[in-house]
Amino acid sequence: MRLRGNKRQKTDEQPELHGTSGLAVELRGVRRQYGRGKGAVHALGGVDLALPRGTFTAVMGPSGSGKSTFLQCAAGLDRPSAGSVRLGGTEITGMRENQLTELRRSRLGFVFQAFNLLPSLTVEENVLLPMRLAGQRRDRRRAAQVLARVGLADKAGRRPGELSGGQQQRVAIARALITGPDVIFADEPTGALDSTTAAEVLGLLRHAVDTLGATVVMVTHDPTAATWADRVLFLADGVFAGGLDRGTPERIAERMAALTSPTGAMARAAA
Ligand code: ADP
Repeated sequence: MRLRGNKRQKTDEQPELHGTSGLAVELRGVRRQYGRGKGAVHALGGVDLALPRGTFTAVMGPSGSGKSTFLQCAAGLDRPSAGSVRLGGTEITGMRENQLTELRRSRLGFVFQAFNLLPSLTVEENVLLPMRLAGQRRDRRRAAQVLARVGLADKAGRRPGELSGGQQQRVAIARALITGPDVIFADEPTGALDSTTAAEVLGLLRHAVDTLGATVVMVTHDPTAATWADRVLFLADGVFAGGLDRGTPERIAERMAALTSPTGAMARAAA
C-alpha cells in the first residue's frame, strides 16, 4: 500500500482540524537542562523551529543529541528550562498541568514505537479513547471512518492482542487521527516493524498529511523512514544542525554519518 504522491487532496471526510492557517509547531529559544552547576546536561541548547500546518517533518540525530527531549518539550510532555512552545497557535509555555493534559488529549495525536494500546479494550474503544478521556461524546461513526482510513474497518471489535504489529500501529494512527489534531507526534513509529509493514505505516502518515492536512513530526533513526517526510531536520548536541528536503536514504545516511563521526563532533565542538 504505497499512498505517496497523493498531494494535498482534501476530501469530504476531512476532520475538523483546529484553526485554518499558520504554524502548527513553533519553538523559540527552547532550552532544556537537566541538573545544575558543573554536572548540568544541556539536552537542548536553544532550539528555534517553525513547522507549517500540513507538513511531515522527520527529526534525526545521533544517540544523546536531544531527540527525545525535543519531542517531549514540543508535545507538552516536558517543560523547557527556557524558551517558548506554541502548538496550533496556542502558547503552551506556562500552562497548568491540567490544561496541558487537556490540550494533549484534544489537540495532539501520539504514535509510539510500542503502540501503547490498551489490551483490554477493543480496537474501536482504543480509537475512541482520546474522546472519552476528553469527556466528549463517543462518536462511533467517526471511529469507523478513521478505522476505514487505516484499512481496519473490519477489526473494530477485535482486541489489540489479536492483531499483527503493523495492524496495531495502524490502530494507534487511527487513534491519533480521531480528534483531527493540530499535530501528530510520532516517536520511532516503525522501530518495532519489518520494512514492508513500516512502509505501510509511514504511507498512512504521509496520506494523513496529504489528504487531511495533518501535521506530523516524527523522530526516527531510520533514513528510509525519514524519506517519507517532506523534510529531515538533524539534531546534534541539542541544537538543529541543518536539514534536507526530500533526501534519498543514502544522502540522509551520509548526513547522519557526518554528525556521528569524530571529525563531525570535533567540528561542532569548535564552532
Ligand atoms: P536522544 O533521544 O537523541 O538519544 P535525549 O533527549 O534522550 O537524546 O538526551 C539528550 C541528553 O540529555 C543526553 O545527554 C542524555 O543523557 C540527557 N538526558 C536525557 N534525559 C535526562 C534526564 N532525565 N536526566 C539527566 N540527563 C538526561
